[in-house]
Amino acid sequence: MTTPLSYVQTGTGSAWDTYLSQVDRVVPYLGPLAQWQESLRRPKRVLAVDVPIEMDDGSVRHFEGFRVHHNLSRGPGKGGLRIHHDVTLEEIMGLAAWMTIKTAAVNLPFGGAKGGIRADPRQLSIKELERITRRYTSEIAPLIGPAQDIPAPDVNTNSQVMAWMMDTYSMNVGATVTGVVTGKPVHLGGSLGRTRATGRGVFVTGCEAARRIGLQLSGARVAIQGVGNVGFAAAELFAGAGAKIVALQDDVDTVYNPAGMAMTELGHAGVHGRIGTVKSAAPIGREDFWDVDCDILIPAALEGQIDAARAQRLKAKLVLEGANGPTLPAADDVLAERGIVVVPDVICNAGGVIVSYFEWVQDFSSFFWSESEINQRLDNIILSAFLAICATAGRLGVSLRTAAFVVACERVLAARADRGLYP
Ligand code: NAD
Repeated sequence: MTTPLSYVQTGTGSAWDTYLSQVDRVVPYLGPLAQWQESLRRPKRVLAVDVPIEMDDGSVRHFEGFRVHHNLSRGPGKGGLRIHHDVTLEEIMGLAAWMTIKTAAVNLPFGGAKGGIRADPRQLSIKELERITRRYTSEIAPLIGPAQDIPAPDVNTNSQVMAWMMDTYSMNVGATVTGVVTGKPVHLGGSLGRTRATGRGVFVTGCEAARRIGLQLSGARVAIQGVGNVGFAAAELFAGAGAKIVALQDDVDTVYNPAGMAMTELGHAGVHGRIGTVKSAAPIGREDFWDVDCDILIPAALEGQIDAARAQRLKAKLVLEGANGPTLPAADDVLAERGIVVVPDVICNAGGVIVSYFEWVQDFSSFFWSESEINQRLDNIILSAFLAICATAGRLGVSLRTAAFVVACERVLAARADRGLYP
């Protein structure tokens, strides 16, 4: 019998609500391990911090920050830091929980964690962003470390933010500790291939999913929401394989060209996360993005984007979840009824955490691998994990999402059961 947590709001459609519904769907397949299900429904620990900083005009502003450890049964916490004006505790808890599932689905020796700062980075100067990052890092310092919890980039954070986090942590402990974060600049212990790793994983799992439904990539029409780290790298790889990028949406613009856009037109979209000027494409209404004629849809922005109504309208045959939690549970049901295949976030976008794992291992050994070695290892791990999930889905007659949760929850709960309760 689940006792609701008193410190979170449920029933608001948050990422945490979505995650709990996904857990409900997997429980019938967990056999005796289901007795440990409660540990999936509660984060191990939650830290909320005050982040006061001096603004450039001399005033002081306070920001809210969070770091959540969802489950550490299988290893140290792993999960990104998000800076966004809509960050809530419920969102960060959901994202941390998906990291537990994701790291287990691809069998990395990590647990799930996530952090967030409620702020709009577009309203901050670079110096203010640095001060927020450093103060937040100091506040969460008791929870992080190479053996405890290793943050990484997420929405609106990048290798520069990771460099500030690494430096702040290192200054506090009096030694350079590169392995406290991943997604760092390559010259500071970062890994080759990390920047594009998440998009690469979307591409690798997407190619296999397309093959399984008999969809040719060459000439396939692709629509992508989000042109940041994940969406832009995925766009480049799909375009490189002969697919046509017919529609793009960022937080401001939506553009459409049925003949496909050339990647050269997108300039530095991946760095700035904005589409910018695409002469060959026409602007369309934000809501029209969901009606675009396409074969593959890649949501690569925020969670909760595909609700049941939008799921009814999608033209795509395949949805590749570059973002975390873009599809609501009711939409999952509509897509399943309509025969639209969804490659779920916990496997589709796992390329980032896989190469973060490689970065962490390289930092420990101070021995660095070539980019081709990294890409090859990434492709092997993500593809074999995806094939195992497809096999589980076939065996149980469930969606790829439920199958990924079965594979992952079995690993997490087996670790929980073997470790037993302390004290
Ligand atoms: P990013 O900050 O680099 O880019 C985010 C993109 O989403 C930008 O193009 C932004 O304009 C767009 N966006 C924001 N709000 C939007 C809205 N309301 N409508 C449409 N577009 C909007 O972030 P990212 O790192 O590419 O992360 C994108 C998603 O992928 C997130 O869900 C994140 O959790 C997930 N993810 C990221 C990584 C990673 O390695 N960075 C790994 C796994 C999953």
